Amino acid sequence: MSIQQNLNKIKSSLPEQVTLVAVSKTKPNADLMEAYNAGQRIFGENYVQELVEKQEQLPNDIQWHFIGHLQSRKAKLITPFVSLIHGVDSLKLLQEINKQAQKNNRVIDCLLQVHIADEETKFGLDEKELEEILKQFLDSARSDNNEFKNVRIVGLMGMATFTEDQNQVKKEFQYLKSLFDKYAKQNTENWQLNTLSMGMSGDYELAISCGSTMVRIGSSIFGSR
Ligand SMILES: *Cc1c(COP(=O)(O)O)cnc(C)c1O
Repeated sequence: MSIQQNLNKIKSSLPEQVTLVAVSKTKPNADLMEAYNAGQRIFGENYVQELVEKQEQLPNDIQWHFIGHLQSRKAKLITPFVSLIHGVDSLKLLQEINKQAQKNNRVIDCLLQVHIADEETKFGLDEKELEEILKQFLDSARSDNNEFKNVRIVGLMGMATFTEDQNQVKKEFQYLKSLFDKYAKQNTENWQLNTLSMGMSGDYELAISCGSTMVRIGSSIFGSR
């Protein structure tokens, strides 16, 4: 099937409230344009350099999501244009994004990445660290000098364990959804949770049944990498 056919098939299967991020890492511009011409406007990329190059070369109305692990020192390369950063997992990174967003006169939407998988290698915060970031945000928002004015936490993101065991994946998604519900109760100007980014090609249907509002799909659209 063509990229366009894959895309249409997936789009028609998604509930209305679920946003599709087309994950285009390592794929050539021609592939992205095929999806673009089929109506797709949100693309997700994992590597800073690749994202910057594609952004320069492709149409201006694309909304670029950064879904990889962002190093603080590289944040400034994407802050002029990025529309959502999915993988934020430290206060230090948030401070850097805030600083760069300020320079660009922007408020940048971010998702906090939570570690839900039973694997050492996947990045993300645990519940205690999430709690700590929330506390800093609330304290700062209440003070005279809010140090996070140029970032807005709009949700959580997570990646389940890479396993055949559907029960385990389901438990991990349910856990992330429970954290999302808990932290969505908090509300300040720059803490407004409305997005739960979970689900990839292999597990997005399960993720949606567990409450995902944003799926990140690569290989089922563009083919294997
Ligand atoms: C690559 C990637 C995806 C897409 O994975 P597929 O299995 O190809 O759909 C989604 N999320 C993240 C964070 C990724 O790195």
